[in-house]
Amino acid sequence: MRIAVLRETAPGERRVAATPETVKKFISLGAAMAVERGAGNTASIADDAYAAAGATIGSRAEVLADADIVLGVAGPDPASLDGIKSGAWLAAGLNPFGERARVDAYAALGIEALAMEFMPRITRAQSMDILSSQSNLSGYKAVLDAAGEYGRAFPMMMTAAGTVSAAKVFVMGVGVAGLQAIATARRLGAQVSATDVRSATKEQILSLGAKPIFVENVAGIEGEGSGGYATEMSDEYKAAQAALVSSHIAKQDIVITTALIPGRPAPRLISDAQIATMRPGSVIVDLAVEAGGNVEGAVAGEVVERHGVKIVGHRNVPSRLAADTSALFSRNLFNFLSAFWDKEAGKPVLDAEIGDAVRLTQGGKVVNPRLLSQ
Ligand code: NAD
Repeated sequence: MRIAVLRETAPGERRVAATPETVKKFISLGAAMAVERGAGNTASIADDAYAAAGATIGSRAEVLADADIVLGVAGPDPASLDGIKSGAWLAAGLNPFGERARVDAYAALGIEALAMEFMPRITRAQSMDILSSQSNLSGYKAVLDAAGEYGRAFPMMMTAAGTVSAAKVFVMGVGVAGLQAIATARRLGAQVSATDVRSATKEQILSLGAKPIFVENVAGIEGEGSGGYATEMSDEYKAAQAALVSSHIAKQDIVITTALIPGRPAPRLISDAQIATMRPGSVIVDLAVEAGGNVEGAVAGEVVERHGVKIVGHRNVPSRLAADTSALFSRNLFNFLSAFWDKEAGKPVLDAEIGDAVRLTQGGKVVNPRLLSQ
């Protein structure tokens, strides 16, 4: 069983799909590990560290030769997989809806492409879930990015020259990223409030010492769909939410938006008119910018200014903390493959519940029901 680790080539991608720690763990399961030269450089891991953990280092062609499983953070360009064995597995974040042509090309190569973002949201798969591990650190980084752009302090400070008041932070969307954003803003001493369409998050907001801001007594308020994800809300709810947000947002210094709905564009939560009511110097971070954006005027990959308010739209926020996000991503991949490791066969054998959920291609065809029903 040979496992190859690719060097990422997407612009701005700094993460890597294995660390010396997971290389060692795979070797202890009996695998031979081959790491593409320079794969860990942008995540502060030198080739020597992989070699010391027991991996061989080589060119892409060398690591791909005879590889049974290929690990990546993002899906590699199919043209760069020349020489990959038919039937080999490719486990990575493959963006299946956004990169459909690529999935077809993986099928044509005869490989089994496994999309880690299709991991089912079940208890036993929590440790394998790249969306959770990466969102968690994105929520943290969003608050630091906001603090970096904000020309004022976060905590209340009493100084000989007078008092600096605490920043007011409002988090919209309290999933994994939002919860971490609340916790981080609290640690920095801000006054934090938060909102979501799923009423179950109210308790979580309170437990982190923040104030819940919720639409009450409106039809279509059950915002929770399958797998704990949000659903699209009724028009009545959207109007009530907009009114509530308008009155609250004008008093906020920092807003962090994280709202996503799987398979649909991100919901629009903040309009240009609402931004105009904020105090100049305020900062909005739109973590959903690459999914269409929660904030009117947000631009992916840029920090723009509207009405004196900075709107931060960094792309690929997990990559901005590449050392830690790589460590967690790598453990997600190891937890996934090792959970199914068959000692006799010396390789992982997936079960139907998880295997059928993540497998996109097999035997030269696209086989994933979520893609086939598109
Ligand atoms: P997500 O990234 O899909 O969305 C972020 C948040 O935005 C969600 O809380 C969603 O409800 C919210 N949102 C959507 N539309 C909104 C709107 N119009 N206004 C305000 N908020 C809106 O969510 P996520 O971070 O992936 O987490 C969703 C839930 O799934 C959480 O409860 C999380 O704990 C759970 N989860 C479970 C597992 C598991 O069991 N393996 C793994 C990951 C997450």
